[in-house]
Amino acid sequence: MQLTSSQVALLGDTISREPRAGWFPVYNPSNGTVLAYVQDGTAEDTRTAIAAADVAFAGWSGLTAKARSIILKKWNDLVLAHQEDMALLVTLEQGRPIKEARGEVTYGASFIEWFAEEGKRAYGRTIPATMPGKHLQTIKQPVGVSAAITPWNFPISMITRKVSPALAAGCTVVIKPSEETPLCALVLLQLAKQAGLPDGVVNVVNGTKAAEIGGVLTSDPRVKKLSFTGSTPVGKLLYAQCAPTMKKISMELGGNAPFLVFDDAEIDAAVEGALASKYRNTGQTCVCANRLIVQSGIYDSFAARLTERVRALKLEEGWKEDSGLGPLINQKAVDKVRHLVDDAVSKGAHIELGGHAHGLFYEGTVLTNVSRDMELFSTEIFGPVAPLFRFETEDEGIAMANDTEFGLAAYAYTRDIGRAMRVAAKLQYGMVGMNDGLISTEVTPFGGVKESGLGREGAAEGLDEYLSIKYISYGGLGAI
Ligand code: ADP
Repeated sequence: MQLTSSQVALLGDTISREPRAGWFPVYNPSNGTVLAYVQDGTAEDTRTAIAAADVAFAGWSGLTAKARSIILKKWNDLVLAHQEDMALLVTLEQGRPIKEARGEVTYGASFIEWFAEEGKRAYGRTIPATMPGKHLQTIKQPVGVSAAITPWNFPISMITRKVSPALAAGCTVVIKPSEETPLCALVLLQLAKQAGLPDGVVNVVNGTKAAEIGGVLTSDPRVKKLSFTGSTPVGKLLYAQCAPTMKKISMELGGNAPFLVFDDAEIDAAVEGALASKYRNTGQTCVCANRLIVQSGIYDSFAARLTERVRALKLEEGWKEDSGLGPLINQKAVDKVRHLVDDAVSKGAHIELGGHAHGLFYEGTVLTNVSRDMELFSTEIFGPVAPLFRFETEDEGIAMANDTEFGLAAYAYTRDIGRAMRVAAKLQYGMVGMNDGLISTEVTPFGGVKESGLGREGAAEGLDEYLSIKYISYGGLGAI
């Protein structure tokens, strides 16, 4: 399947249908065909984009929050008006089933809408003075030019989750989207322009030379803020690269989410939660359940029911309406999943379902009899494979859940209110789904602890990431 004529019209001259020198191909992971060619950005292009953002900053930050909000709302409306074209684009370049791709568009738009509103509430404070004749105040100001480096697995929402709060706060932006999914970023940019965003306020540098582009974004002193979503090793590298110019940082990195199921859980709800958390986007989200940690008394029945539900997920091209699982993003991803399953099987895991790759398509897989010495206990799988670990006591379950350097999302299912509160408090994670397998929304703070990152996205906290606090002491005021 190729790009539709309306998608081509939306993308305009940002793509080429023919190979061009200095442009790179964008592949459809379902069948390996080339969808389009996109300009392959360089260090020089990145500096040009930063310069444009730097020039545009004074004008954009000088607008009222309401004026910025009006443009953001138009952008939101345009994204929603093009939901079907954009959803199909997500499916074509990233692979996820079309039903989920529609959700990715509305989820992406929800950040634009939320921050269009929230930007108006960047309140400062008046602080009771410690001396007569003084007025103590804080104000929040945009940090300046912000860089966003984004992944392929949510090719719309990972951009809007960073760019919308930045714009709402008054910052200008340079985006480096994933080289796997540049088209979604380009459509977002085109729609932002249609919405009336002034030149230079949002700039996109696509490219295969990620280290080169990232090197400029992290070292240029005009860039004041970096927000990155991606793998932990790259996040650590970028964090270090930002140190010499002391940029403000947000990092949303890898996870290794535990999904605890206690004996007293409502089993059908736990199975549905596990299905949603584990197999969404074919297992390719950073909050996907990575380790299903199931108490002994419920283990066998949970395994049997989950296996039946996964068996019903159809593995086929995402543009088919009944697709439940699509391809993985690339061969490297398939090789990694295959290696993790082989390692587990060699150490005694039992394959209840799946376990095979067909090109980039990997079968929905359930593994039992898994143990902590297997690599998938400590490695983010990023594929549709659910390993079911067994535990006996509450303390043992919590200890297993926390036995990782990551701390993004965790899940637990129990009907005991005391246990629910204890477990939620003891899980060393930035987010906990208690009897809830789907936790991401635009109104709540998303982010991790430990090596899963720094900062929060979404919610009021997400706006603060793009603001700096200025304290002003007005003295010599006399009696006030
Ligand atoms: P994934 O394995 O999920 O693709 P990455 O961390 O490799 O995760 O990629 C996330 C984003 O980071 C992508 O936009 C990618 O191009 C970018 N990236 C990868 N390596 C670097 C780097 N050295 N400097 C800057 N950006 C990078």
